[in-house]
Amino acid sequence: MIPIMDNHMHLQLKGENVRAAERFRKAGGTHLIISHMPYEEFPITAERNFKKTFERTLRIVEMVRKETELMAFATVGPYPVELLPLAEKVGLEEGKKIMKRGMDLAAEYVKGGKAVAIGEIGRPHFPVSAEIWDASNDILLYAMSVARDIGCPVVLHTESATPEVWKDLANMADKAGLARDKVIKHYSPPAVLPEENQGLFPSVLSSRKNIREALSKGTRFFMETDYIDEPSRPNIVMPPDTVPKRTMGLILNGEMTEEQAWTIHKENFETVYGIELEL
Ligand SMILES: [Zn+2]
Repeated sequence: MIPIMDNHMHLQLKGENVRAAERFRKAGGTHLIISHMPYEEFPITAERNFKKTFERTLRIVEMVRKETELMAFATVGPYPVELLPLAEKVGLEEGKKIMKRGMDLAAEYVKGGKAVAIGEIGRPHFPVSAEIWDASNDILLYAMSVARDIGCPVVLHTESATPEVWKDLANMADKAGLARDKVIKHYSPPAVLPEENQGLFPSVLSSRKNIREALSKGTRFFMETDYIDEPSRPNIVMPPDTVPKRTMGLILNGEMTEEQAWTIHKENFETVYGIELEL
């Protein structure tokens, strides 16, 4: 048996949830990280909303653990775009405070063993006002220092990862005192070389082209689908069985060795998240 992990998937109660996880398992998946996302039932209008919405993600993880043979893990954290409606409602300064309290709460779940990282957090992936941009960076820097204090990774959602973006994020990690390899860049291109990713950890969107290019550079990367389990957009960003199908396909045609698969799916997980996997 070969370990196969999807490093970034979302599941929703209104979506396929456990059935999507089962599609992943049937294709050969063994463990997955279910990332928190904003659920429409729980708009963030105050600090207390975070608890409800994080608990929803943890509940879905529990369902997957109970109803499938998969090892499922959670990441929780305030989704960066939530700052926008929040700032509209309570003002930017108060919004910033609430987002930071959301980071503190996420850290509590990590400390309690309910989540393995703070994420996805970061900054909006589209142009925003200078005020929102600065506030987002301020919140992110705070989150990185919280992660440093408890020794866990952060999973970043940001604008497209250009060389300048990698450098900027690496500088922020340094400023916060968070080790660069505890900064996981989700939705990453195959930026596997250290000079490309500045020592941050890429979680690569698992198209065939991306994974081939990533493999040509090494094995220091995660594979992900960013499946969003949204009924109105089925199989977006990629279907939940993509990572096992891609991995098995590449192994069968000799483009990935089993040893490389063990490194990508197991050793990298253990190193970055600091959790030993029992298969
Ligand atoms: Zn995502």
